[in-house]
Amino acid sequence: MKAIKPKFEEMAHTLNQINSGIEIVAVTKQVGVDRTQEAVDAGIRHLGENRPEGLQLKHAEIKGNVSWHYIGTLQSRKVKEVIGLIDYLHSLDRMSLAKEIQKRADKPVKCFVQVNVSGEDSKSGFSPEQVPAFIEALKEFDKVQVVGLMTMAPNTQDEAQLRTTFKGLKELQQQIVAGKWQHAPCTELSMGMSNDYLIAAEEGATFVRVGTALVGSESEAER
Ligand SMILES: *Cc1c(COP(=O)(O)O)cnc(C)c1O
Repeated sequence: MKAIKPKFEEMAHTLNQINSGIEIVAVTKQVGVDRTQEAVDAGIRHLGENRPEGLQLKHAEIKGNVSWHYIGTLQSRKVKEVIGLIDYLHSLDRMSLAKEIQKRADKPVKCFVQVNVSGEDSKSGFSPEQVPAFIEALKEFDKVQVVGLMTMAPNTQDEAQLRTTFKGLKELQQQIVAGKWQHAPCTELSMGMSNDYLIAAEEGATFVRVGTALVGSESEAER
């Protein structure tokens, strides 16, 4: 597989020209510990995992100063296993999950509310219309801090459709910011993956979640 460092440096440089302060979350769910360590040694500071097992393994093995991001659907019964290990949760997609976090966390957890902007049945998250009321309700939850909104765009090369999705998330974010809720500064936008991170950056992403285009993917046999 290709070395991560030059790829990361090029990606960071390109993103920095679009907007300074975009953070790259390297999604390491499809690679093992060695490749993940290579990413950290290349200077990557944010790692994303979408399964409790992967998170626990990497958290235990990886050496370096890393922020841990949980990016996948999180089952309520798994909250207690991951909540102490993560710095960010990108997938707050239902009230029952917020309740479980409130019950299990020792300190406030930085959360992104997941929004299904494109309205596809296959995607989890709130519809944009549901988001303001959900966030308002979260003010009772002192362990849930709404740092931003997250979306997954449709799996398409259609640039116009991608931009519409990202713009939709940005508009919603501005609406939440205007509400000036103390528990929901909502300054961040988690959007953009390997296929569409440049477009997401142009539309205001502050965290892009990039897996295959940055660290590649390994088959089970290679790990
Ligand atoms: C896997 C995943 C990514 C990264 O996907 P790539 O296409 O490999 O960049 C980003 N976000 C979420 C929620 C994911 O599950």
